[in-house]
Amino acid sequence: MRCIPILFLFSNFAFGWGSTAHKFINLKSTYHLPESMADLKKDSLFYRSYASAPDYRKDYSDTSFFSEEKRHYIDIDAYPDFKNIPHSLDSMMTIYGRSYVWDVGTLPWAIVLTLDSIKDQILRHDYAKAESTMSDLGHYVADATQPLHCTKNYDGQLTGNGGIHSRYESGMITAFQSSLGIVIDSVRYIVSPLDYAFEIIYKSQSLVDSILLADTYAKNISGWSGSGTPPPAYYTALWEKTGSFTQERIQTATIAIASLWYTAWIDANSVTNVLYTNNSIPSDFTLNQNFPNPFNASTTISFTIPENDHVSLKLYNLLGCEVSTLLNAGLNSGVVHRVIFEAQNLPSGLYYYRLETTKNILIKKMMLLK
Ligand SMILES: [Zn+2]
Repeated sequence: MRCIPILFLFSNFAFGWGSTAHKFINLKSTYHLPESMADLKKDSLFYRSYASAPDYRKDYSDTSFFSEEKRHYIDIDAYPDFKNIPHSLDSMMTIYGRSYVWDVGTLPWAIVLTLDSIKDQILRHDYAKAESTMSDLGHYVADATQPLHCTKNYDGQLTGNGGIHSRYESGMITAFQSSLGIVIDSVRYIVSPLDYAFEIIYKSQSLVDSILLADTYAKNISGWSGSGTPPPAYYTALWEKTGSFTQERIQTATIAIASLWYTAWIDANSVTNVLYTNNSIPSDFTLNQNFPNPFNASTTISFTIPENDHVSLKLYNLLGCEVSTLLNAGLNSGVVHRVIFEAQNLPSGLYYYRLETTKNILIKKMMLLK
């Protein structure tokens, strides 16, 4: 499905966003991380330096399912009715066959695989390895935000726009890198990373036609024939038509990366706390199941903390969006704290409540039935 013309093997063609964009995205992703992740956040320059490392690991003779080269894209529109395909890899292999799924690209599943590795590494306290894998994850998620990594017409080869891949992600980005910026935002816990990856990919795919039209427009305006090096006027016109959504894609990439890093960290820390309980190591950091549960109008959440600390208790919906802050205060240890939660205007459903101190996090689920 994806063949690389030999001429381009050593150019930026196969590199996902060019290395300029990958470096920018990995660096800026760290800006969104909460202070509680300070240890992993402080190595922001590391994530920038290794942002393109996965591109240099590609080995085109490797035919294993998660071979490096196939991790960087998915030609999602190669699947008929692609908005309604199952997301699970097993289902996809059953329907389309292993080799077809491999050929079309493994990007969404590579994201989840990489995320799981980060959780394991944090759980093992192997932070050096975790940072390296976090850097890789940043690369793959950024690739998912690049529209031309999410289409079978990845180089405009099907529509007379040959070469657009590199012109868009490298030529244009290099010319306009000083115009790139991001807005610092908050991370969110991603309940289903696989569905989240597909959401990003669908949005990217929807922008492919706009890039191809912009390419044709830029050629006409600049009078560039399409062979040789494009003149500056070509890139100016391409940026004029694609710059705003390209910036949006880059902003999305940084938030998505930070949110997935955060999700791995939360999951790893939640497991750590469960292990402590199982091993009967005395720990006064406890979060009890709300009572009653399921509940109708109001419920009580109780918890204890090991030392006087700043504590927040927040409620999230299934999409990981924060719904309510139940508590945000300095509290004493040695007593059972109780928070009464009135559901008021919330719809029925499953919610997560998350207790965070400066050192620890615990999460539990509750069910609201009206
Ligand atoms: Zn890539």
